[in-house]
Amino acid sequence: MQKNQDFPELGVLRQTFDRGITRHFSWRRSQLLALEAFLIEREEAIAEALYDDFRKSQEETFLTETGYLRGEIRFALKQLKSWMKPHRVSIPLIYQPGKGYFSREPYGIVLIIGAWNYPLNLCLAPLISAIAAGNCAVVKPSEHARHTSKVLAEGLGRYLDQSAICVIEGGVEETKALLEERFDYIFFTGSQAVGREVMSAAARHLTPLTLELGGKCPCIVDADVDIRVAARRIVWAKFLNAGQTCIAPDYVLVHKDVENELLSCMRGAIIDFYGDDPLLSPDYPRIINENHFHRLENLLSGFLPWSGGRTDPQEYYVAPTILQGVTLEAEIMKSEIFGPLLPVIIYEDIDDALEGIHRGRNPLALYLFSSDPGVQERVVRQSRSGGVCINDLLFQASIHRLPFGGIGGSGFGAYHGRAGFNTFSFQRSVLKRSLYPDPDQRYPPYRGWKFACLRRIVTFFH
Ligand code: NAD
Repeated sequence: MQKNQDFPELGVLRQTFDRGITRHFSWRRSQLLALEAFLIEREEAIAEALYDDFRKSQEETFLTETGYLRGEIRFALKQLKSWMKPHRVSIPLIYQPGKGYFSREPYGIVLIIGAWNYPLNLCLAPLISAIAAGNCAVVKPSEHARHTSKVLAEGLGRYLDQSAICVIEGGVEETKALLEERFDYIFFTGSQAVGREVMSAAARHLTPLTLELGGKCPCIVDADVDIRVAARRIVWAKFLNAGQTCIAPDYVLVHKDVENELLSCMRGAIIDFYGDDPLLSPDYPRIINENHFHRLENLLSGFLPWSGGRTDPQEYYVAPTILQGVTLEAEIMKSEIFGPLLPVIIYEDIDDALEGIHRGRNPLALYLFSSDPGVQERVVRQSRSGGVCINDLLFQASIHRLPFGGIGGSGFGAYHGRAGFNTFSFQRSVLKRSLYPDPDQRYPPYRGWKFACLRRIVTFFH
């Protein structure tokens, strides 16, 4: 990476990495522990920041941000030694005597660009993986969650090794300027449109990258399940963070025989969770900013909501809203909703439902409620998505041993647990040989008996 006067921090990070400090197990461990201390000691400040950004409750912040991150750190600390161990491989006879192994090496200086919807999690979960893999890192939080961005910038500077990890705050212009620099890896979470720009910036320096993007995640509800349980789970997953979750169910495909039951159970669940007026609920967050608020209002216009539909521009409030009678051709089905509007579409046959989800171009998640193992197997086999969760939602992203990432339009690459360690490291192969024997057959000229002999050895002993 060239030194750039706009970002003098990058020169410091390069020096640290070149000195090999971040490769040591002890450095990685100490930084993970320091990050854990930041999350524990600054829990209140973090919760306040998320409240100021979204009106998100302290409890939801623990469940979806700090609690998850602390678990990810504990998991990494437990597994780190085994992840760092080189893998010995057996060496074919023809290359004997020799020893071979490959190890996972850090890339160097990595750039982590976060989205605003889980502003702490989407910066720190990749950072945990980057540290575990022994990298220096620049974290660029989203400018739209400005209070959380501030807490990150102040807190990480105080708790972590500043010569190896730094936070650079800013919006589009600052991120574009950062992308002019040469990084050794880029990890981007955000929209498909910006993902394209990040990928072309990475291409200029041939920098490898991961794109964690969005999409329309379908949720199929078949007729043979306990509809009350399915409704409660769908309502919880959709309206958590006021629908601003990349893996929230974007829309529901329900079997026509259970549509009415599902709709009334979902309305009941909304009242159970958020009361008669969710505007007053301490557990129901707000839309992040005016632009997104107006985008959602526009999506809503033209619909007579089956439930909800109220908005308040003073507070950027959009009520938990269910839309009935939506078709796959409707405008609302053309892009990711990313807010608390839930279209419900009926199907008659599971093939119709599969046909519907194929239009969604490889979503980040696919959900299915069905008690029939045959249907479960068929839906998983005949669809594509970054992840699948059957008879529940969201938890596929909470399990540290399950890789989390997209495919096609929802991105590429994965992280969480070992998948994150692998993402932020490359495999380096090492072969150690002895100087002897040194047979003539391996060297030219290859004609005559020498090549016949070499051919035999290569054929039989490779
Ligand atoms: P965004 O693409 O607008 O912004 C993401 C980041 O890119 C921000 O840090 C922003 O400052 C920066 N940025 C914005 N415009 C840029 C530009 N022109 N050049 C360079 N950088 C730029 O995304 P967002 O609105 O913050 O997040 C919402 C999207 O992210 C949704 O599509 C959602 O599904 C997706 N998302 C995906 C995941 C996942 O894990 N796959 C998680 C959360 C959100």
